Amino acid sequence: MCGNFIISLDYEKAWGFNDLLQEKQDFDKFLAVDGIVKEKLSLFHEFNIKVTWAIVTGMIDIRTNNELFECNSNDSFFTNCLLLNNVPENTYKCSIDEIVLKGHEVASHTHTHVYCDDDFSQKKYILSDIIKSIETINNISNFNCSTIIFPRNQVNIEILKELKPLGVKCFRGNNSTISDSVTDQTKKTTKVLRYLDSYFPIYPTSYSNVSIHDSGLINIPASRFLRITDYKILNIIHLNRIKREMTNAAVNGYNYHLWWHPHNFINKEIIGFYVLKEILKHFEFLKVQYDFKSSTMEEVYREYTL
Ligand SMILES: [Zn+2]
Repeated sequence: MCGNFIISLDYEKAWGFNDLLQEKQDFDKFLAVDGIVKEKLSLFHEFNIKVTWAIVTGMIDIRTNNELFECNSNDSFFTNCLLLNNVPENTYKCSIDEIVLKGHEVASHTHTHVYCDDDFSQKKYILSDIIKSIETINNISNFNCSTIIFPRNQVNIEILKELKPLGVKCFRGNNSTISDSVTDQTKKTTKVLRYLDSYFPIYPTSYSNVSIHDSGLINIPASRFLRITDYKILNIIHLNRIKREMTNAAVNGYNYHLWWHPHNFINKEIIGFYVLKEILKHFEFLKVQYDFKSSTMEEVYREYTL
């Protein structure tokens, strides 16, 4: 059986920092995201790659309904800026027409970027936020939302159990060797080890071994976060580590699941796109040699449940 090359992108603009933004100018850096997304779409098209775009649907359908904001950002600086409309709109809004048109998968990254572990005490609001996200995707596309990727990788089983009746079929689980989850409880040592593992084999590679989760949904775990830095040498070491892992996946028929955010390329566009293009060129080579194939999470789910 041939392996799948899976890319999932957490597309969120300023929403991803809804608890961190403190000043209006903090929004400005997200002005670069539209250009980065456009260039990524063009590269994916060039290499015939289909990607899962996990969207914070607040970017396409902003509700001023307080209940939806109550979970984590009601009365926050971020929410007030949006309600007052006093920061540039394209730092927190987007169009996904091109993503849909090019045949990529649109998945939920919740409606307002809620934190399912950190804010679990507000489960009711988290669920209404996710329901709004699914409804938004179903309304704007001609398919049903079947995939969820949790903000900050806070994969919460109690939330997952509620999602099956809503039509959600699969989710991105955490890397099996060192979790990608970031919560209020994440230790500094975990973050350091995760960082070092981007460059050196601290842990074995987490191939995306698909399984049925206790929640009844299909778990399509992450393999690696694509980490772009300002240091050329680190980017090259990271690139070579990813290419070796991709080769091993292709040769052995494993799945390899890379993920990142479009905003990770801000101010690092040249090196970021160089690294991404090298990865896609390597994928093309593996496709010819070993039938390695590009799949969205939804396609992997369908293949698994055939
Ligand atoms: Zn996110």
